[in-house]
Amino acid sequence: MPKADLQRFVLDALHQAGGIAEPKGYGLTEVLVPQALAERLNIPSLVTLAFESEAAREEPHALLVTYGHPLVDDLIAYILERQRGFRFYAHLEPHDYEVSSERALALVEETLEFRKTRRPAIEAMSPVLCYDFSFGFRVTWQSSSRIEETLVKLVDGNGNALAAGEAAYDRVFWANHLGPHEEKLPSLPPVAFQTLWQKASVEIESLARHRAKDLVALDQGKYDTEYQRMSVYYNGTLKDLDDKIAKAPVERKEALAERRQAVLADRDRRLADLRAAYDVDHQVALDHVRMFVVPRVAVSLRLQQKTEQLPAHVLINLLTRGLDPFPCQRCGLPTVTVSWEGRWVGDCCQS
Ligand SMILES: [Zn+2]
Repeated sequence: MPKADLQRFVLDALHQAGGIAEPKGYGLTEVLVPQALAERLNIPSLVTLAFESEAAREEPHALLVTYGHPLVDDLIAYILERQRGFRFYAHLEPHDYEVSSERALALVEETLEFRKTRRPAIEAMSPVLCYDFSFGFRVTWQSSSRIEETLVKLVDGNGNALAAGEAAYDRVFWANHLGPHEEKLPSLPPVAFQTLWQKASVEIESLARHRAKDLVALDQGKYDTEYQRMSVYYNGTLKDLDDKIAKAPVERKEALAERRQAVLADRDRRLADLRAAYDVDHQVALDHVRMFVVPRVAVSLRLQQKTEQLPAHVLINLLTRGLDPFPCQRCGLPTVTVSWEGRWVGDCCQS
């Protein structure tokens, strides 16, 4: 995450919490922080924040805010506690809501395969507000060098990735209120925040682990060479000692054997150090959470299987103009091929 994002994160968070910010020239912002929050964050109620070290040098009273600064961590904790983070409301125009039933049907047929049923028919369509979340994780990989990146996961209200939607969500402008066309819409609540967070964490953790392995593999050649060089050296030393022990008179043998033990211990320690120097540790920390309130068109489908009429519900995302991930009704993972087993299940759970 570039510095500008950190500045935006901190200022947005303080704004959300009722702070009033006033730009004070290059890299400096004066903020009037609500008393309770100022105490909680352990900062003065009227504080000048600097986001550039040059700016901080100009203004010695300013608080220089950087990654890892306790203020940033405390703000994240504060936001998560309130489980609100940043809210972004998509304000759409009436024509954005116009989705024909032909278009809806085409989307369903392009995206999903309902097994052993006739073509779906549309029973009803109506707009509804849904909640999406973007979780930004700060990931650091540490070996001989240090790499830091922010990885972002955008998920829908079921916690499933909106992979194709990221560009569309960049366009969402943020406001403090719903748009005039969104106010009257019913809303579909997301699953528990902890579940969303956990699903996003699991995916980021797996990405970070793969990346760590790649980084280890990148240096494998260097490690092998170094390991080889050390092994040859110690094997030579040990062999010399073995020869000496064989030839030495009895009274010298014990001292030489002790020496050999010391060399062995030294070798093991040095090889372990070498391994540690080439290992890549990684750490994942939640950096920010954003909530997007985005309208969908809820489409109720009817599918005929033999003589049965089966209901199914899908959501058309009015920002991405695509279908939301269809969650398997047994395990919740997104799926594209669905079979009816008393409920719609994906490949993941078909018996
Ligand atoms: Zn499943």
